[in-house]
Amino acid sequence: MPAERPTHIQEFMDEPGVDRRELTRALACIRWVNRRLGGTGAVLGHLRSWSARWPRTGGPIRILDVATGSADIPAAVLRWARRGGRHVEVIGLDRHPTTLSIARDWTRKTPELTLVRGDALRLPVADASVDYATCSMFLHHLDDVAALAVLREMLRVSRRGIIVNDLLRSRWAKACIGVLTLFSGSMARHDGRISVAKGWTADEARGWAMALQNPWLRWQSHPFARFTLAGEKPDASGSSGEWRRLLTPEQYRITREAGTEQAFTGEYWNTKTPGVYRCVCCGMDLFRSQEKFDSDTGWPSFRQPISPAAITELVDCRHEMVRNEVKCSHCGAHLGHVFDDGPPPEHRRYCINSASLKLVPD
Ligand SMILES: [Zn+2]
Repeated sequence: MPAERPTHIQEFMDEPGVDRRELTRALACIRWVNRRLGGTGAVLGHLRSWSARWPRTGGPIRILDVATGSADIPAAVLRWARRGGRHVEVIGLDRHPTTLSIARDWTRKTPELTLVRGDALRLPVADASVDYATCSMFLHHLDDVAALAVLREMLRVSRRGIIVNDLLRSRWAKACIGVLTLFSGSMARHDGRISVAKGWTADEARGWAMALQNPWLRWQSHPFARFTLAGEKPDASGSSGEWRRLLTPEQYRITREAGTEQAFTGEYWNTKTPGVYRCVCCGMDLFRSQEKFDSDTGWPSFRQPISPAAITELVDCRHEMVRNEVKCSHCGAHLGHVFDDGPPPEHRRYCINSASLKLVPD
């Protein structure tokens, strides 16, 4: 078992006052590794398989590339899209001004690429406003808590799915990177070694899929000490069969067919455990336990959602009643209804099916 991840050691390229020439050499080294050792191919492979279902008309497929570095993978994605006559646009986001300026120099002939400055931990992007969020060779720069926060942000902003592509930690990878960066400048040598040491073992990376509770995210190992964690949200692929496979029959009936569970039978109607209630389908945070109250109705009841953007409210005229339906704004799962007989001051009662929720205790 390789040693623990040395998350306290910074890579030189992350430092604010980094030397531009050294950074250019280190980024060139990463470009070579991505191109030759499968990083670019791993991202393209997922997009290629999903692209069969992309609409041929309408707007572009928009991809947000988080911590884009020199934007070599976005540029490769756009070359592939152009060759296939697909309308794709990429927004490359990076926090480091020098990295962004090098990326601008290297992508002048790529008009479908927009480069913006921003923090991966707080993406300056509205919920579900891009089709895919991708992130290559970046998460290993972070500790586990921050890496998970970036993954959640990617899930929040993407409509269709995400692709993460990063390094596995192993003795073999360590030896290889030593040889590869032998003549690549001191920054590439230092950061290359640290990067591999800060990668994840297969078990750790697989654990993320579980921590995120997104049943559609798949872990896959690739040659040259690389893994991807990627998936398309089942609604994006338009297959109810996929939801049927991922959910229990009761969860499916309620979330995908707007059903209602019997009062006083669900898992959470009487639960007082502190924590966050997530969407059972897509894992988005929906309600906090502090907002849960005893409504005596037999369904979990909340004063308000975790944020107004987390849910969508629609007028529902089914069953000879006019009610306000509440859906997950991310994946469209039916959650329940909202009524105006809740506690003051807002008087709102979000009456939610237990089967639509997954409680993650604090
Ligand atoms: Zn959802």
